[in-house]
Amino acid sequence: MIYLDNAATTKPSETTLATYNKINAEEYYNPSASYSCAFSLSGKINEGRRDLINLLHGDENGSIIFTSGATESNNLAIFGSSSQKQKTYLFSMGEHPSVYNCAKELLNRGYRVDFIKLDRAGKVDLDDLKRKMTADVCFVSVMFVSNETGAINDLKKVREIIDDVNKNCLLHVDGVQGFGKIKINLLDNKIDLFSMSAHKIGGIKGVGALYVSSRARIKNIVFGGGQENNLRPGTVNGAGILSFVETAKECYKNMDKNYDFAQNLKQKLLTGLQNLNLNKLKIVSEESASPYVVSVLFEGNRGETLMRFLDSQGVLISTGSACSSSKVGNRILESMGYTKPQVMGAIRVSFWTENTADDVVTLVQNIKKYMAEINA
Ligand code: PMP
Repeated sequence: MIYLDNAATTKPSETTLATYNKINAEEYYNPSASYSCAFSLSGKINEGRRDLINLLHGDENGSIIFTSGATESNNLAIFGSSSQKQKTYLFSMGEHPSVYNCAKELLNRGYRVDFIKLDRAGKVDLDDLKRKMTADVCFVSVMFVSNETGAINDLKKVREIIDDVNKNCLLHVDGVQGFGKIKINLLDNKIDLFSMSAHKIGGIKGVGALYVSSRARIKNIVFGGGQENNLRPGTVNGAGILSFVETAKECYKNMDKNYDFAQNLKQKLLTGLQNLNLNKLKIVSEESASPYVVSVLFEGNRGETLMRFLDSQGVLISTGSACSSSKVGNRILESMGYTKPQVMGAIRVSFWTENTADDVVTLVQNIKKYMAEINA
């Protein structure tokens, strides 16, 4: 089986599994307990918070709140900071459902919410942000890397546009598809809230984190005990957290090497597809996009049917993000200006360190076979 759907989830790394199993076997204590071994475990978790802040070049006085994943981190960032109903909350149109549906819920609750358009490359349209960034905007949410197209937002420019109007406005970034893959400096870009997920970088599912800058004042959205700085109640998942931190450190150590590797796979895929000479091929992901996520479309074709054919050949890809693939259409590609029939032909191939060049060769061969069959 060839797995090319790594934007949906990745295989847990050796480091993850080794750390996870070791902590579960040897330090399964509740880290909030008062005996010394629990205290030692909670010390390791606190060290992990410092490690993540250092990797992200975050605010030394900021904090890391461990969560069950980026969906929860995004909900905490948004609902935890939405105390001002008379203010406006801005969201990019390219956001993952775990942000976009929070925006829709704010609307339902009577908040003032607006959406920033995407440009043709799938990045946030900076002119539209300039138009919509008024003095009453108190919160902006723009993702780091698109899970659909790999488009990388220019967060420095986003922050500059915000600061020109309101320096106190909070900036939330869903960092899931960029964290551990592409460098980011949270302090330089004045990012206040940054969401991460372990299972997109070789960690286990059900573990994530939210970085909170020292100036961001957020409130808990779930009620219970005082864990995680009173912001996220529930027994702390020591094994999940420590395996996430170890994996994140490993990703940072190998970041340049991994990036070049993914870039080579992306290039091999695009060259392979172009060599098939299919006039219906359109490459959606631009050259400067993250090499880990590649979106292409075959006009007049159904991405869904191609995906099923590839599945039958043992090659797993996606037609869009797994979280939204049951829905008809694709909000993100449509926001970029693609027509509904074009969007129907879209597929997403996403890489991780487990992949090989041969995986890409097999994928291209199977796409060729499929195109020959449907045109026969
Ligand atoms: N944001 C983005 C950009 C994602 O790709 C995903 C996962 N598909 C999430 C948020 C949600 O992450 P999790 O599965 O950890 O809740």
